[in-house]
Amino acid sequence: MVPIQPYLLPINPFSRPGKKLRAVKGIVMHYTASPGAPALNISRYFASLANQNPNDGVEDRYASAHYSVDDLSIYQNVPTDELAYHCGSTTYTKEALTRLGSYPNDSTIGIEMCIDKKGEITEKTFQQAVNLVSMLCKQFHLTSLDIWTHKGVVGWKDCPLPWVQNPNEFERFKKAVEGQLSAKAKPSYPKIKAVVGRDLPAIIVDQATHIIWTCLPLLNIKHEYKGNGLFLIHDRLVQGVVYEGDTYLPWGQISPPDITPFQISGGWMFVYKP
Ligand SMILES: [Zn+2]
Repeated sequence: MVPIQPYLLPINPFSRPGKKLRAVKGIVMHYTASPGAPALNISRYFASLANQNPNDGVEDRYASAHYSVDDLSIYQNVPTDELAYHCGSTTYTKEALTRLGSYPNDSTIGIEMCIDKKGEITEKTFQQAVNLVSMLCKQFHLTSLDIWTHKGVVGWKDCPLPWVQNPNEFERFKKAVEGQLSAKAKPSYPKIKAVVGRDLPAIIVDQATHIIWTCLPLLNIKHEYKGNGLFLIHDRLVQGVVYEGDTYLPWGQISPPDITPFQISGGWMFVYKP
């Protein structure tokens, strides 16, 4: 999986209210409905909602999602412990009310998938979303049964449209996540250069980039070692993988907002901007 790039929205009433999620009980898949527009566009749109004036008589829009995904990038717009406005509705399906509660926005993570010019979710975007959702399922102890479409939550909205039109694609998505959740790690060594002017080793586990734990002090990431490969990072427990005597941590779970990853030939460059 490509590293997740932070594009955190400012706290504001329209797209990032700053409220904590009650729990993470599900992941809700959406599509941007914007043919050919990249992930950064939808993230910028969510950020722009912050500029609305509640007193100008113009109707205000409330919308956001935790992540936006396209062929090349994954942006995080809202932290996974905070509420985003992605599946609010006046009515919900019975199944959603039973399993997610009366206000599913406060118990789910929302993901926006981009579409190409023909309105389709490309295979690359599909696979990026599989990787992201698999990572989130592991992190929050969810299974493929906890993956929803927007339509599955509210009943009326045709989102993601390509999966509403072809439900086999949603089934294929859940199967692909199941595959990753049960996959054995196949470690390898991609080249990764760190900011601090020297190379840091990393491995790929389940298609997710894992970086050696010693990057934490180098990147000024506050952490505490709990034993057995478990680290407390940003008040969150992150499980490391031991490979050839070193512990590696999933980059997607440790990356703080002030570190920006850039793709370089054969790997990733991590730039620290305090
Ligand atoms: Zn949607």
